Amino acid sequence: MSGIDMKKMQKGYDSQQRGGDFLTIQQGNTSMYVHPPCRKKDEWEPTEGVNYVPVVVHYGVGKDNAMTVCIDDENNPIVKHPFVEKLLRKRGIRLGGGCPVCKAIEDGALSDDEMDRSRAQTRYLWGVTPMEHKSKPSGSWDKVTPKPSVIFVGKSIYDGIMEIFFDNGDITDPKSAIFANIHRVGKGKNDTKYKVVAHAPTIKKPRKLGPKLRAMIEKAMAEGGDCDLFKIVANLIRNASDVEALMAGVKIDESDDIGDDIDDEEEEAEEEAEEEAEEDEEEEAEEDEEEEEEELDDDLGDDLDEDEETEEDEEAEEGEEEENGVDDDLDQLDEELKSIADGKKTKKKAKGKKAKKSKKSK
Ligand SMILES: [Zn+2]
Repeated sequence: MSGIDMKKMQKGYDSQQRGGDFLTIQQGNTSMYVHPPCRKKDEWEPTEGVNYVPVVVHYGVGKDNAMTVCIDDENNPIVKHPFVEKLLRKRGIRLGGGCPVCKAIEDGALSDDEMDRSRAQTRYLWGVTPMEHKSKPSGSWDKVTPKPSVIFVGKSIYDGIMEIFFDNGDITDPKSAIFANIHRVGKGKNDTKYKVVAHAPTIKKPRKLGPKLRAMIEKAMAEGGDCDLFKIVANLIRNASDVEALMAGVKIDESDDIGDDIDDEEEEAEEEAEEEAEEDEEEEAEEDEEEEEEELDDDLGDDLDEDEETEEDEEAEEGEEEENGVDDDLDQLDEELKSIADGKKTKKKAKGKKAKKSKKSK
């Protein structure tokens, strides 16, 4: 009776292990640096030389309407990727008996409605780092704290990002990056639409990422890091008996978590995502503090100089910026840097930012 809730402890631990915290794409426009392939020595043909990972999933499974990865290796070859298999072995998960959801669909064991919801569909994992955001098309790009993240998206965003590559070549070169601009309209499940185009300012002038940001991204992409896409796939996979339990509506430890994170495709509850982001920021802040505190200012300063130019360019072009827009952004980034260095939550600051901004733009 020490006051420890073992179930909660386990749940917290599991969610840390799983790494299924995907970035919620905010409404408005978000410019993102798209990461290169996360692991260097990938010799598996389907993913070698590409920077995304396709994953076949079933949505709407069981009473919880959960998402689960298809574990039929013919339908979803990624479950046999050597990196993924190695991680599954560590977790004691053995596949090879086919996918219970696919079987139920083949056998006609589901209702038409369930069948429709749960049919296998391909989603794509990409590593990205959001760089800037603007809420109105005519507005200015505001800096965001560049946190290496992962998006798990459907075909329309996938196609949009691929098109940027086809039009511009390798956009992931950190010395000369072109960002993706993902425009989200709508908030709910039925009215949300995405449009992906290349971020105009970086087409005009590709961006050189500062050394600090590059180090942060490299660290996240490394094996076991937050943006190790293979780790994420492995952590999303359930063994056949857990999938069956999910279909039968029996609670298993992790089901609600995974369901909450991703079962409604690209339209998660924003608050939840914010909370998660906050927690992650805290974690990161701690890490940063340990290793990188002194350098942080310099490097992000570098990035900022470049951004400033771009923003000025854009302002000149669009001619609708207030004079002190750049100052505001500088203040904003300063605050963010401070909060990273202090290891504090940034949410309060974000609110403060808004207040400050409205004060400033008299
Ligand atoms: Zn399946």
